[in-house]
Amino acid sequence: MKIDTKCIEGGYTPKNGEPRLIPIIQSTTFKYDTSEDMGKLFDLDASGYFYTRLQNPTNDYVAAKICELEGGSAAILTSSGQAANFFAIFNIANAGDHVVASAAIYGGTFNLINVTLRKMGIDVTLVNPDDDEETIEKAFKPNTKCVFGETIANPSLKVFDIEKFAKLAHKHGVPLIMDNTFATPINCRPFEFGCDIVTHSTTKYMDGHDATVGGVVVDSGKFDWMAHKDKFPGLCTPDESYHGITYVEKFGQAGAFITKCTAQLQRDFGCTPSPMNAYLLNLGLESLALRVKRHCENGLAVAEFLASHPSVAWVDYPGLKGDKYYDLAQKYMPNGTCGVVSFGVKGGRKAAEEFMKHLNLAIIATHVADAHSCVLHPASSTHRQLSDEELVACGVSPEGIRFSCGIENKDDIIADLANALSFVK
Ligand SMILES: *Cc1c(COP(=O)(O)O)cnc(C)c1O
Repeated sequence: MKIDTKCIEGGYTPKNGEPRLIPIIQSTTFKYDTSEDMGKLFDLDASGYFYTRLQNPTNDYVAAKICELEGGSAAILTSSGQAANFFAIFNIANAGDHVVASAAIYGGTFNLINVTLRKMGIDVTLVNPDDDEETIEKAFKPNTKCVFGETIANPSLKVFDIEKFAKLAHKHGVPLIMDNTFATPINCRPFEFGCDIVTHSTTKYMDGHDATVGGVVVDSGKFDWMAHKDKFPGLCTPDESYHGITYVEKFGQAGAFITKCTAQLQRDFGCTPSPMNAYLLNLGLESLALRVKRHCENGLAVAEFLASHPSVAWVDYPGLKGDKYYDLAQKYMPNGTCGVVSFGVKGGRKAAEEFMKHLNLAIIATHVADAHSCVLHPASSTHRQLSDEELVACGVSPEGIRFSCGIENKDDIIADLANALSFVK
């Protein structure tokens, strides 16, 4: 099936007389006839449901659809994108371990990695993703367990050179984890370029309607954990909390990572979406291919408009010819990038604040990537906890505006921008 068909048909195929749409199984518990039946589930000897904190059928159908979209082997839904990124990393990195991460990432993820993971004893080296291989390679240590980056960074819109990072990660025997939120699998499927694990904040384009916060972790099933057994004891040696099973032996290379994530992290942290939210996410997924196409058309039209406007100092949009990341974007996502455009207003921070006051259609929101156009001045909101040096390292400038094109008519979006820019003197 083509990807737009998978958006509709993936993950769930009703049998005779069953509901057409993924049903909402809004139940905490599941009934069994005998204790033996249930015991098999606790031993991971049988697959099935017993408590929604660990697994729920609605959530699993939706995870399976996203897994198909990414071309993965297994997936798990989480209650937020933050939880997805935390799970993806913490599933293989423990206290005493080390992570190599791109510095050009979402502010929340930056904080998760740079502050909270450090508090948990996980060391991190942040790298400039644009550096050459030799410079980036210096970040690796014997205890490095993974490499982390974003396909299109939020909000800097830097495009990640997937093959460069996959090569370095694999040379050091660790997987490449990528947050593919902005590109979505419609525009880029990182597994096709050597990435091993993909995450999303499904809150953004996947839901796409401002309705639900959520996340997903998808495994490609391609990383050979057993070839690097010493680095990944959690996957390659017995788990005493599950009667000594070894995840890779019991669930294979294709199932080990997500099974461990479910059995340990979802069990202990409980970052489970409600089945109702998974149901709403699925409605968003059904139109993902159509919406992403429109978001990209609007993004390009807005970028072209801004690039020729006298009050605009600079425009970053990887789909715009002449953009620093245009060639990389053409390589990894030739059909489109995203609907988010970053730009700087002439006159610095004050001018940016003035511009923000005069938008009517685009609303000021701590959000991006949904049907409604929205706008943010990161230096005074999402990234305000970062120092000036950290801001620059993340690719955020004081006059920078992040404009997320919705799926309204592009003429109305551009008219709104033109009006607000007329107040910038
Ligand atoms: C929003 C976002 C996140 C965090 O997701 P939540 O669903 O808000 O927890 C992570 N990564 C990227 C790229 C994001 O845009």
